[in-house]
Amino acid sequence: MKTIPRLRFAHLPTPVEPLPRLSAALGGQLRLSVKRDDLTGLAMGGNKTRKLEFLLAEAQANGARTLITAGAIQSNHCRQTAAAAAKFGFGCILVLAGDQPGDVSGNLLLDHLLGAEIVWSGRVEREKVLQDTFQNAWAAGRRPYLIPYGGSNPTGAAAYAFAMQEMLQQVDPQPDWVVFASSSGGTQAGLVLGARLFGYTGKVLGISVDETSTVLQQRVAALAEATADLLGENLAFTPQEILVNAGYLGGGYGVLGDPEREAIRMFARSEGLMLDPVYTGRAAAGLVDLVRKNYFSAGQSILFWHTGGAPALFADRYDELGTV
Ligand SMILES: *Cc1c(COP(=O)(O)O)cnc(C)c1O
Repeated sequence: MKTIPRLRFAHLPTPVEPLPRLSAALGGQLRLSVKRDDLTGLAMGGNKTRKLEFLLAEAQANGARTLITAGAIQSNHCRQTAAAAAKFGFGCILVLAGDQPGDVSGNLLLDHLLGAEIVWSGRVEREKVLQDTFQNAWAAGRRPYLIPYGGSNPTGAAAYAFAMQEMLQQVDPQPDWVVFASSSGGTQAGLVLGARLFGYTGKVLGISVDETSTVLQQRVAALAEATADLLGENLAFTPQEILVNAGYLGGGYGVLGDPEREAIRMFARSEGLMLDPVYTGRAAAGLVDLVRKNYFSAGQSILFWHTGGAPALFADRYDELGTV
């Protein structure tokens, strides 16, 4: 395997913890555990920290001076990119979708604290605003480096291949299932590649947060292949072998519904574990529903891969979570 440049700032390995009270609350037939990637460090943690170790190394190698990326108002990826920029002395421009909201809370508050410049895309397509912002920064001599949505290119996704290797060194026997929130697909692409490279034989199930399974399966398979290529490995992945469940899209991206509310409370009250309203709350809601539907076989072990995101709990739009 080829080695690719990496900075080291994530708090690794992240812990794996058993979830006995949650397992009991869900009927006691399964052994649930959690991989705490909400504890990766870098301005309150999350899965983007791992990706940024590789993306920042590439930005430095390219002589970049300004990081530019895009996301939703409550983007964890944008918050963590802003933190990485601050830590390594880059400027940071975030293109956030929509219009500037009336409140500044949750991740957006942290973006401001971290000194990021924010460009609101308004009604214009975010991708176009991103390209324009990049061109302007380039013309102004700011040496911009573009980090794609979610940090999900082969460089970012490679981090999750190594995360799979890390988990396999911590857990014996291997869990039967790894379950997590999947959106831009970098996490899942890295995990399925890591499974192939490092011998994980269980199942890697992404709960889609905002995409149909067809779109996400294609994206993940293509990205896993491109990531393998980056690491000098010639491996093929087909969309059919990528496990995605898109049955929990609810009211759409970022819309908190009853299933997310229930899952967030259940994890909090049985294990003292904080999920987030957008990603892990939705993935956990899917997991809880699948357990209740006997999707998993009795006696199986399930590792819930916590991908972070809890700062969004403090966004004004999710205030209602604070009511009993
Ligand atoms: C970005 C993110 C995800 C999704 O990861 P992808 O690699 O984009 O699929 C899941 N959970 C949280 C908390 C995130 O911020």
